[in-house]
Amino acid sequence: MKPQETQKPAANSVLDQRKRQVVTKGDALFDIACETKSVAGSVSQRACVFCGSRVVLYPLADALHLVHGPIGCASYTWDIRGALSSGPQLHRMSFSTDLSEMDIILGGEKQLYRCLVELIDAYRPKAAFVYSTCIVGLIGDDVEAVCAQVSREKGLSVIPVFSEGFAGTKKDGYKAACDALGRLLGTGSTEGIVPHAINLLGEFNLAGETWLIKDYYRRMGVDVVATVTGDGRIDDIRRMHGAALNVVQCSGSVMHLAKRLKEQFGQPYIRVSYFGVEDTAKALYDVAEHFGDAAMMDRARALVREEVAALMPELMCIKKDLAGKRAAVYVGGSFKAFSLVRALRLLGMGTVLAGSQTGTKEDYRELEKICDPGTVIVDDTNPLELCAFLKEKGCDLLIGGVKERPIAHKLGLGFCDHNHERKKSLAGFVGMLNFAREVQATVMSPVWQFVPRPSGAAERTP
Ligand code: SF4
Repeated sequence: MKPQETQKPAANSVLDQRKRQVVTKGDALFDIACETKSVAGSVSQRACVFCGSRVVLYPLADALHLVHGPIGCASYTWDIRGALSSGPQLHRMSFSTDLSEMDIILGGEKQLYRCLVELIDAYRPKAAFVYSTCIVGLIGDDVEAVCAQVSREKGLSVIPVFSEGFAGTKKDGYKAACDALGRLLGTGSTEGIVPHAINLLGEFNLAGETWLIKDYYRRMGVDVVATVTGDGRIDDIRRMHGAALNVVQCSGSVMHLAKRLKEQFGQPYIRVSYFGVEDTAKALYDVAEHFGDAAMMDRARALVREEVAALMPELMCIKKDLAGKRAAVYVGGSFKAFSLVRALRLLGMGTVLAGSQTGTKEDYRELEKICDPGTVIVDDTNPLELCAFLKEKGCDLLIGGVKERPIAHKLGLGFCDHNHERKKSLAGFVGMLNFAREVQATVMSPVWQFVPRPSGAAERTP
């Protein structure tokens, strides 16, 4: 084994302007700074506004998605989510107006008009979304006017998404996507919607999760009108105001829409998570409780008993391997971080660092409550900080997204992808078992005995 490097304390890697965005539980009164623009000089893991809007709207499978800008923006977000569709696959195409130098000089409106007309004629979508990128914001194309003209001529909704990349943070992109969806709300018939009907918001069907969750609710006697946006359809969004309740999973991305539905149509909403056994069960119970239906609650309890009984024996075996191991969690939204801390605890693992790109103060307060003393809680971190804390705290696993994967690999840590691109469902009871298997396979891999251990890491016993 190589001698361990001498490390400066990880806190020294935090830029002065970011000091209030990093807090260790138990050190002082918890008062984390968040919901701010990324600090200059900090290589934030956040994506741009356009990317934020693209990830929310992308799974709408019967819509045309046209990126108005240079080809790079479309390429950057091509097939950005593993958003499965049970029908049309139009969302998988990445269309771009491919603006070039002359369009930038003379304006891109004619190019946008030509592309929209050609694509609508060729693909006959249910609606079209036009995403503004940085350069469109700079040259000042009137995207709204072109969309309105094509909408009139072609007789379908052509919706501008005001998502210029520089105009804020990824979270502003979520809002731009919700505003775009807002134009469809209330435009369809609610005929045939039963009283016990809900919408699933912030569920993106990365690997079939939407189908699994819908099935849980179906077994409880609850219909799902629309999913925003996993396996999504335009006509469902048009009639979603007819459901009795909005069940919001990824609240960071779609809370703006939930609030709008409440204001406009009086629809209540609840926040849930489908990651981990406890949180999935609670998501089902909370819906049954909302309807105040004893028989529905009985069905939910029976479902949870059956599902938990099926997975517990294997989970307990996995726990024997993982007990005492340590993980770090850095994800997009902090609501998912809560569930992951709890799910890791069920597997006997501790969490040494937990953070997110877009958490709110309220989220972080909740996260602090469920973390153990000594856990580092970070908002909008960067690779240098993350590396320093991972080395100092010592852990066996990093859970994150595509941008965190190389960090884990360079440090010789196991990695679990819990973000857009994954191909295996990690939601619901089955998802908890998939998660546990993946964590076990990663953490217990014999490969780690050949990799130099980061300074400060706990002894590995593969
Ligand atoms: S919108 Fe701007 S920041 Fe986003 S990918 Fe395009 S050029 Fe880059």
